[in-house]
Amino acid sequence: MTATSKPELHIVLCSPRGFCAGVVRAIDTVERALKLYGPPVYVRHEIVHNRHVVESLRTKGAIFVEELDEIPDTDAPVVFSAHGVPKSIPAEAERRNFFALDATCPLVTKVHREAEIHFKRGREIAMIGHAGHPEVVGTLGQLPPGAVILIETVEQAKKFEPKDASKLAFVTQTTLSIDDTAAIVATLKSRFPDIIGPHKEDICYATTNRQLAVKKVAPVVDALIVVGAPNSSNSQRLREVAEREGCPVSVLAQRASDLDWSRFEGIKSLGITAGASAPEVIVEEIMGAFAERYELHVETVSAAEENEFFPLPRSLRPDAA
Ligand code: SF4
Repeated sequence: MTATSKPELHIVLCSPRGFCAGVVRAIDTVERALKLYGPPVYVRHEIVHNRHVVESLRTKGAIFVEELDEIPDTDAPVVFSAHGVPKSIPAEAERRNFFALDATCPLVTKVHREAEIHFKRGREIAMIGHAGHPEVVGTLGQLPPGAVILIETVEQAKKFEPKDASKLAFVTQTTLSIDDTAAIVATLKSRFPDIIGPHKEDICYATTNRQLAVKKVAPVVDALIVVGAPNSSNSQRLREVAEREGCPVSVLAQRASDLDWSRFEGIKSLGITAGASAPEVIVEEIMGAFAERYELHVETVSAAEENEFFPLPRSLRPDAA
């Protein structure tokens, strides 16, 4: 097929998309540790939920483990992932004299501190989030077992029976669906008017802005691709948002090679976004794959400007002693 015979395709890029400040900080933490101390640098859990990022750090000398007991006694740095960890993890790292570097996103740490303050003030805490996600495991693990009750759905919020409704608080995971979370919060507030929590929820700026951009684009395109991993909560939520906004085809793809081309037959327009842990190079790879089949016309639709920056952990900053 010659270039002139390709069908036309209107690409709408969502903005903002891809890396957030917390992900940049986490990746920079591993890279800076590798540069300052040399390999290996141990990383507990995928530093961010993206295979491409993990593989590229692995080739530079990062060793990924799921638990600290997989790490031999060592002077090498041990990095905790952006999702945050239960309190037992830094305690165990200290017991084993590890040189720990905490790459927990500051916006996740903020939720940890909120939960701790509620607990100190004698409040029972409901956490809105997804069971098993490392961020939820980390937040629940800031406090003794049973101090935080996980609520995943409106149905659970309707059935939740606190010990004392006058001493109740809520926190949320940072990467949830804005709409689903608003419904759960509304249910809790209507049942327990005295519940204390953040103004709306703890969903971070990056999750919010990426969902707002998809809400603008999804209704006007024939298909939408979210570049992101299946275990990335914010990427999954973006795909769901596109589906709910009526986009006929909304798919998650980690690489161009994941694409099932039969799903894009006959489309005239395609939206593209990327989860907060997905690098722009994969967006470019996917655009390249479409450019081989279509004559592309590219437009960007923006929902917000982002200028957030989170400094590295103190011991890695250039001015550190
Ligand atoms: S998605 Fe939000 S909470 Fe998660 S790392 Fe990025 S900024 Fe932090």
